[in-house]
Amino acid sequence: MTNKRKYGERTLEVHAGEERADPVTGARATPIYYTSSYAFESAEKAKKLYALEEEGHIYTRISNPTTEVLEKRVAAIENGVGALAQSTGMSAILLAILNITNAGDEIVASNNLYGGTYTLFKNTMVNWGIKVNFVDTHDLDAYREAINDKTKAIYCESVGNPQLDIPDFEAIAEIAHENGIPLIVDNTSAITMVRPIDYGADIVVHSATKFLSGTGTSMGGIIVDGGNFDWTNGKFPQFTEPDESYHGLIYSEAFGNKAYIMKARAHLMKDLGTVMSPMNAFMILQSTESLSLRVNQHCENALEIAKFLKNHEAVSWVNYPGLEDNENHEMAEKYLNGNYGCIVGFGIKGGIEEGKKFIESVELLSHVANIADAKTLVIHPATTTHSNMSSEEQLESGITPDFIRMSVGIENVEDLIADIDQALKKAVN
Ligand SMILES: *Cc1c(COP(=O)(O)O)cnc(C)c1O
Repeated sequence: MTNKRKYGERTLEVHAGEERADPVTGARATPIYYTSSYAFESAEKAKKLYALEEEGHIYTRISNPTTEVLEKRVAAIENGVGALAQSTGMSAILLAILNITNAGDEIVASNNLYGGTYTLFKNTMVNWGIKVNFVDTHDLDAYREAINDKTKAIYCESVGNPQLDIPDFEAIAEIAHENGIPLIVDNTSAITMVRPIDYGADIVVHSATKFLSGTGTSMGGIIVDGGNFDWTNGKFPQFTEPDESYHGLIYSEAFGNKAYIMKARAHLMKDLGTVMSPMNAFMILQSTESLSLRVNQHCENALEIAKFLKNHEAVSWVNYPGLEDNENHEMAEKYLNGNYGCIVGFGIKGGIEEGKKFIESVELLSHVANIADAKTLVIHPATTTHSNMSSEEQLESGITPDFIRMSVGIENVEDLIADIDQALKKAVN
């Protein structure tokens, strides 16, 4: 199944990327090809594979048949032309940027990002000469003004974690394209709710550790190439000038609309070794089969819990895009297809002490840093995920001391509500 969106979403989640049976053994499930290398049919074939003149496997740091099924499946889910699996979401983000930047280049990013991404952009990439200019997620003029001759991409998240800001993708993609640069969207928090490529995004990245794995077990990341961006517009010599490590190969000429994802694989992943283990690819493949069923249940539960919290006397505010008075509700209605995500933010009356007490009093909910696990999770961002920001940076990103982030799972919602209620009553009295 390779056709772009010939089938509905759940059909793609179950079938895309795989053959109906393993050609050698007849195994119906995708086998785990746990091998580092592959025997070459002939010396001539080996030479062609090494020169990227023929498709095939050489070494698992470049490609693997199990991982390839996952890559094709996620490419189909996101409506892309190709994908590249990575060891983690962070390496997916890193490669997505490094694939189109060199020292001296710049990126424009929305200021409301996953904490790990913010640190990578703000504190790490700057040491390599790549500067990131942060702008208000909703301020379209700010994106325009932050772009200069050195800017190589705009970067944002489909639903910002943990502030839940939903950018106007279509408008931001237009701004990027007017300036001859791509839009990269981290769609970790909204997979199956929105396909950013359909709204003009050029590259999509995922932490597969979240909804794609769904069980809080396997780490992983994926980059998806929309195949629509013109890398030959003069701003991206990486794609139009010869690559000396492949005897002068020119990616845009050799791979057409798959130039971006082929370069990420054959150049960067080969050099940096950020490959996903075939075992993790197999684990995540199992979870893709129930992806939108699970996501829908997460979202249904989260909406109920947001409404419950809104009426609770121990709660001072609730942030959930599904609530009609939420500042992101309009964007959610435009882009998220009737869903609003699994993350609910709320403020507990009092502050840090009450927050701590709440987290220590829950019995069914788990106190962990992950999101989008089948299990419901809670955390206090100011003292954990965002603790390496200064208090000013925290406040700028909306991380107030009373803020509790909940990632709602797929359990029976009445059980979750009962647990949250008893813990709130213990914490605030
Ligand atoms: C978790 C997360 C990441 C990082 O992914 P890892 O798999 O933990 O490396 C990136 N972006 C978002 C939105 C995330 O939630």
